[in-house]
Amino acid sequence: MKSEDLKQRDLASVWHPCTQMKDHKFLPMVPIKKAQGVWLEDFDGNRYIDAISSWWVNLFGHSNEKISSAIKQQLDCFEHVLLAGFSHEAVINLSEQLIEITPASLSKCFYADNGSSAVEVALKMSFHYWKNIGQPKKTKFINLSNSYHGETIGALSLGDVSLYKEVYEPLLLDVITVPSPDSFNREIGESEREYAVRMFAHMEEALQQHKDEVCAVIVEPLVQCAGNMRMYDSSYLTLLRMACDKYEVHLIADEIAVGFGRTGTMFACEQAGISPDFMCLSKGLTGGYLPLSVVLTTDHVYEAFYDDYENLTAFMHSHSYTGNPLGCAAALATLDIFKSENIIEANKSLIKEFSQQCERFCDHPNIGDIRQRGMITAIELVKDKATKESYPWQQRRGLEVYKYGLKHKALLRPLGNVIYFMPPYVITAEEIQLLVDVAERGIELATKD
Ligand SMILES: *Cc1c(COP(=O)(O)O)cnc(C)c1O
Repeated sequence: MKSEDLKQRDLASVWHPCTQMKDHKFLPMVPIKKAQGVWLEDFDGNRYIDAISSWWVNLFGHSNEKISSAIKQQLDCFEHVLLAGFSHEAVINLSEQLIEITPASLSKCFYADNGSSAVEVALKMSFHYWKNIGQPKKTKFINLSNSYHGETIGALSLGDVSLYKEVYEPLLLDVITVPSPDSFNREIGESEREYAVRMFAHMEEALQQHKDEVCAVIVEPLVQCAGNMRMYDSSYLTLLRMACDKYEVHLIADEIAVGFGRTGTMFACEQAGISPDFMCLSKGLTGGYLPLSVVLTTDHVYEAFYDDYENLTAFMHSHSYTGNPLGCAAALATLDIFKSENIIEANKSLIKEFSQQCERFCDHPNIGDIRQRGMITAIELVKDKATKESYPWQQRRGLEVYKYGLKHKALLRPLGNVIYFMPPYVITAEEIQLLVDVAERGIELATKD
C-alpha cells in the first residue's frame, strides 16, 4: 500500500536523473525505506545489495555508525558557515589530512559541493593560472576519448560519452580529444602496457602541436568509469606526467570516481607514481553521505594568484555551500575509518574474491572482456566474443540484467552492456558470491538469443 502510494506520488512529481521517464511504464520505481551496510530495503520488505555504491559514492555502507555520529556531533555545534573570511575546524582538519594523503606536490584545497563543480574549478584555475603568469593564449583543454567529467557545461565539454554530450554539442567548449589508451581495444597478444605506451604517441603529438594554446590535459586515472568502466595501464599516466612537464601544460587528475581506494590504492595516481597539478575529489569523499568536493593543487599554482588586490589576480569563484561543515565532518570520519581499519590492506581479500568469483565468465560466448582494477570489476557483454562486436544498443541487454537483479536481491545498474561491481567496502565474501551468482543468471537471460 505504502509502496504503491509512494511510487504514484513520485512519478507525479519527481523528474529523475539520467532517466527516460517513460521507461517507468515498465520499469519498477523502488522507494527505499531503510538502508544498512550494503543492503537497501524497500517498503515491501525486499532487500537489495547496493553493488554500485549508490552511484559510486558509498564506501563504508549505509547508515554507518561512525560517519552518522560524526555528522551529528558537528550538527550539535553548528550546521554551516560561509568559508570566505570565516573558517571552521572541520575544514581545516580535512584540508590538512587530504594534503597528507594525496600525492606530494598537492598542498592547497579549494572546495565545492559536487564533482562537476570541482572539474569546473580545476578548468578555471588552470586557465586563470596561465593568464596570471602572462600566457593568455592558453585557452584549450585536451581530453581522452570515452572520458567523463560531469554534466555542467564546462565539465560536459571535457567528456566524450556521446549519450550525455551529443545533443548539447552547440553549447560546449571546443576541446582537443586524443584517443584513449583503453585496453579493450588492444591487439591480440599485445600487453596492456605495450598498448598504453603505443597509444601515448597520440598524446605526445597533440601536446607538441597544441602546447601554446593548451592549459591542461584532463584524465580519469586508470578507469574511465562512466565510459563503461574501461581501464588502462598506469604507464600512460607516468608518460603523461613527463610530457605535461616537458610541454608546460597542467595535468588534471579527475579522481572523483576512482579516488578513495576504488582502484586498490588510496588514489589511482599512486600506481603511476605521479603527482598531478590538480586533483578533483568528490563521491567517496564523504563516504557517500553528503555532497562535497575538493580540488587540490600545488603551491606553485596558488602563488600565481597571490598578489595585491589591485592586481586582480584572485580566484573569484565560490559556491554557497563551499566547505560545508557537515560534509567535512563526514569526510573526516571517512578518512578516520580508512586509517583505523586499515581499509586499503583489508580490501585486498575482497578484490581477490571478486576476481575468483568472476573466473566463471572466462569462457562465456557472449562475454568479451572481464576487467578489474582493485574494487572495480566489469564484465562486458558482446554479440561475438571473437571480434568483440557489441550488441546493438537498442536491444538494451544490460537492462535485462538490471531487471533480473531487482527481483533477486541485487542492485546492479549496468552501463549499457557492461555489468559491473563497485560495492561499498563492507561487503562480505558471501555477499560477493551472491552478487556474482545473480549477475551470472541475469547475463544468461540477457544473452540467450
Ligand atoms: C561522477 C563523476 C563526475 C561528476 O560528479 P558529480 O558529483 O556527479 O557532478 C566527474 N568526474 C568523474 C570521473 C565522475 O565519475
